[in-house]
Amino acid sequence: MQTSIFLPSLLLRGFLRAKKLPNRTKSIAGPGSDVYKQRKTIQSNLHSPGNKKQMTDILHRTISDSGKVFGLACNTTHLVNEACRRHDTGPTAAAALGRALTGAILLAALLKDGQSVRLKFEGNGPFKKIITEAGYDGWSRGYVANPRADIPLNNGLVDVASGLGRAGFLTVSKDIGLEQQYQGITQLYTSEIGEDIAFYLLESEQTPSVVALSVQLHPSGIIEAAGGYLIQALPPVEESLLATIEQQTKKLPSLSSHLAAGKSAAEILATVFCDIPHHTTATTPLRYQCSCTQEKMKAALCSLGYGELQELKENQEGIEIICEFCRDRYSFDTQEIAALLNQQDENLN
Ligand SMILES: [Zn+2]
Repeated sequence: MQTSIFLPSLLLRGFLRAKKLPNRTKSIAGPGSDVYKQRKTIQSNLHSPGNKKQMTDILHRTISDSGKVFGLACNTTHLVNEACRRHDTGPTAAAALGRALTGAILLAALLKDGQSVRLKFEGNGPFKKIITEAGYDGWSRGYVANPRADIPLNNGLVDVASGLGRAGFLTVSKDIGLEQQYQGITQLYTSEIGEDIAFYLLESEQTPSVVALSVQLHPSGIIEAAGGYLIQALPPVEESLLATIEQQTKKLPSLSSHLAAGKSAAEILATVFCDIPHHTTATTPLRYQCSCTQEKMKAALCSLGYGELQELKENQEGIEIICEFCRDRYSFDTQEIAALLNQQDENLN
């Protein structure tokens, strides 16, 4: 039987975890699974000619005419569907992953071109952890450590907080092109993702923000709509202005009802800004995208070390590596593993 190992894909942020998972390969959302088929159907519907408004996920940027407050909003329905299809998530994990991806996209949009952010939610619940990453230019990727955890509904609603666990930490790492990443850690606040991000921004970055994230699930567990917004005041911060917006958003229809009604990111921001004069500054297309390649996987395999490679070579079936972020698979036969061993021999001599 072919051995499969599971490696984090490969921004290789100083760590490499290898784990043999011989029985896990069949559990991945294959074309045979019911949820996979349903997700494909929903995605086809979203792409139908009559639904042009939602053809692409978009991040929208708005600023008040006074320059005192700005807002970001995004629709992430397609990329969240793609993430959940790849990871074969259960309904609650789908909502959690969708919120965490959307949150990462909003935080990445606060950075500069070429920069990126990584969110790690680690709690004492069955999901264990959720990791999402996003870049300023619109890419994002992520996973839930235990995406099939069965979490009971709470009053008919998905219970993300119970899935993640009430106790734990949110770690935000920013790659801003310096040798060392910027890193901030806060305790989980409500474990509902959006409030945890707002709490992080306030506690760790001293930036009061209004953050809303939402994932709309079909009763079958399919994502019908996903998105979010983030509002911040610009320095010198007038907290009263932000408080006014926050109060305003409480009176408005919820983000989830906006998304369910098919409102665009621009329309959602227009509703949030309400009677504050504002204008659009930019829009960015969004996508689910992983950076793994055969070459990077080969480098990861090399870093396992001589002894482990030798052991893998003795397995006549070769090895399959699964990217933790996108679940793409990379196969290496025994000849390729032998070549890597020879390479290591040469390097030693
Ligand atoms: Zn990947």
